[in-house]
Amino acid sequence: MANLTRVEAGARSALLVVTGYRLELDLTQGAQTFESSSTVRFRCAEPGASTFLDVKPQRLHRVTLNGAEIDLGGFDGERITLTGLTEENEVVVTATMGYSNDGQGLHRAVDPADDRHYVYGHSFLDAAPRVFACFDQPDLKAPYDVLVTAPSEWIVLGNGAATRTGEGSWALATTKPLATYFFTVCAGPYVSVTAEHDGIPLGIHARASLREPLERQAEQMLTITRQSFDYYHSLFGVRYPFGEYHQVFVPEFNAGAMENPGCVTLRDQYVFRGATTHDEVLTRSGTIAHEMAHMWFGDLVTMRWWDDLWLNESFAEYMAHRTLEETTEFTDAWVDFSMARKPWGYAAERTPSTHPVAGSPAPDAQSALQNFDGISYAKGASAVRQLIAHIGDAAFVAGVRDYLRDHAYGNAALEDFLGAMQRASGKDLQSWADAWLRTTGLDAISVEMATDQGAITSATVHRVPPAGQPADRPHSFDVAGFSGGAEVFRVVTTVDSDETALPELAGKPAADMVVPNAADLTWANIKLDPATIAATPAELRAVPQAQARAVVWTALIDAVALAEIDPRHLLAVLATSWAGESSQSIVNQVGLRMTGRIIPQFIPVSEQRSADAVVATAAAAMLAESGAGSSRALVAARYVAKASADEDLLRRWASGQQLPEGLGGDWDFRWLALGNLARRGAIGSAEIAAALELDHTMQGTLKALECKASAPDASSKAWAWEELTGQHGRSNYELNALAEGFWRGGDRDVLRPYVARYFTDVPALSGRVGEDALARVAQLAYPSRVVEVSTADQSATALRRNDLTASVRRAMVDADSQLREALASRARFG
Ligand SMILES: [Zn+2]
Repeated sequence: MANLTRVEAGARSALLVVTGYRLELDLTQGAQTFESSSTVRFRCAEPGASTFLDVKPQRLHRVTLNGAEIDLGGFDGERITLTGLTEENEVVVTATMGYSNDGQGLHRAVDPADDRHYVYGHSFLDAAPRVFACFDQPDLKAPYDVLVTAPSEWIVLGNGAATRTGEGSWALATTKPLATYFFTVCAGPYVSVTAEHDGIPLGIHARASLREPLERQAEQMLTITRQSFDYYHSLFGVRYPFGEYHQVFVPEFNAGAMENPGCVTLRDQYVFRGATTHDEVLTRSGTIAHEMAHMWFGDLVTMRWWDDLWLNESFAEYMAHRTLEETTEFTDAWVDFSMARKPWGYAAERTPSTHPVAGSPAPDAQSALQNFDGISYAKGASAVRQLIAHIGDAAFVAGVRDYLRDHAYGNAALEDFLGAMQRASGKDLQSWADAWLRTTGLDAISVEMATDQGAITSATVHRVPPAGQPADRPHSFDVAGFSGGAEVFRVVTTVDSDETALPELAGKPAADMVVPNAADLTWANIKLDPATIAATPAELRAVPQAQARAVVWTALIDAVALAEIDPRHLLAVLATSWAGESSQSIVNQVGLRMTGRIIPQFIPVSEQRSADAVVATAAAAMLAESGAGSSRALVAARYVAKASADEDLLRRWASGQQLPEGLGGDWDFRWLALGNLARRGAIGSAEIAAALELDHTMQGTLKALECKASAPDASSKAWAWEELTGQHGRSNYELNALAEGFWRGGDRDVLRPYVARYFTDVPALSGRVGEDALARVAQLAYPSRVVEVSTADQSATALRRNDLTASVRRAMVDADSQLREALASRARFG
């Protein structure tokens, strides 16, 4: 597999200026392949020199360079060598390309609801050559002219505004200069809602079978889009530069969304077909605002090479939360960040794969792909918040404006960004950048207090840098104390040494709970003191700010992962504090972490049923206390359906009877109950098939697969493993569903043989499944729930192999590290 190196990219961009792409795609040649014609015009700085063009076709038909045909005898399947370049060049490539079903290149999916076909382009990170011939690297930007031929009942969307020029013929308007990884074409019988805002034509699109929820939810999405445009226009001082703005909800999408200029693609589970919760709509709104921030940061100004990808993601992640909180109804966006995003990044810091926010070497394109993680998003966004605390918001905004103006339609790197911030703030930021961006690991922050007769006599913040990772990070944050439901003190501080006194707390009343970083402004492992930990079951629910409660929950969950506290203590806090929690981000994320990791990995097998019962009981109490049909009731009902052992209740819900209010016709809810029954072995393939008959949709098909894979009997496991790892042409989403279900049901004896098979069969998927998709499959299929020393031993052996692809290795390293956390906890607490 050709994998462009940084050195090759540097040499090619020094030599070439690409002046334009003219592409013709013919999507009328059946469901397997399409015809692609690429005309690339470019200048060469050294006439006579040679270079190479990237293309990954099924069949390469003809290549001409400046009118002369190139002999294709030596074509390696990925690179066309171009020799004897002149000052001005034109290369023309015609090829037959394959549609994918792994979410990379031109993905083609069939909707089981109506058998209609949908196509979308995903060129990120290096998949553009699967669609057209190009110089595939982020700093060779050029304008695109695109013509598409498609079945007559389809619509076509792309980076430039689409015009139907005849029966099945479409022309897309010439784009501004774009990096190759932004190229997309979406084509199919998509249905649309269109609007306009401030002169910008807007479109929202999805599969025809999603018409009803799309039309019902479009106004909310358009509102977020309008609010974000207004905010970014005022903040950045540069208008949206890419013409129309389309958001296309596409099937089987690997990521959350992709910021293709003018034509963002988003996973179509975001068009919620059932009842929706507050935090689901918040998450979708955050994704909308995130992709919009990329239109400036990433699209207008693009990183020079993949090692600055964090700059795109950290900025967009930060900006999305800021936008939601400042301009939309989602004033709790940063609480959601604390619960949904930071734990992801904190977990990433604990694995051997952690890396600095910036400056991680990306010697080649594939290694860069591995850095789309909690470090680049959650830690990066937290570093941006610390930067703003360090230089002030006015300087930050001024620096961003300068950066966008100076590099518009071009490329930039970390030094350009820091330079803009330094000029705007008048501060030298090199040591700040070393501490926050160029070193790995988390500082541990704790507060030590001495009290006398109920009053504080002294308070000290301890900062412990990560072992072996010297970093002198300044932190801006606050420390708050709570007793009996009241905030008794709060002090804001900046810590720039390992011990910092807080003299302003002397004389203040002592608190039952002391919460460092209570507003969650900094990035650190918050170590709660023993008295605070002991107080959490009784006091946490009374802490008045959701933000502070989120910090405590995250600190407790991390302390379990670090084997510092017994996972049963967390369960005790859940029993007292979860059902009454008012923040839905906290409710949902705590529930996810308990049911998805803490119970199956950290609680001993013999206690897992009773732990599930604690969750189910608390969820039932939450459901009973929540307003009928409310978002909170819905979240609660979902956790009852997931965790309950009441098979009569689950059967009623699975068959659509006596459902909680608002859940009639909500098939996603019914599949939760079906999934619980399936992994208990309480229903079999006949019941699953009957449910699929009634919910014959893409989502239903995936849920049925997941249920079948989770059935506890040996023959179901054998079937599921073969479907997952054999050559059955399964799509990326089907593989995810099989992997997700597989380890959920079945006792150790049935599952254990598949531990060894994971380490042989999953790496063998490399090459058959794209790396983007395989990363997720390898993570979901890992035997995380067989928490045994032998699993860790086999994992260690597998990691010594040198034939693992980057995605498989990364998934294994991270899952292995999490497994070892669970083993350490069980060794300490039983
Ligand atoms: Zn992004």
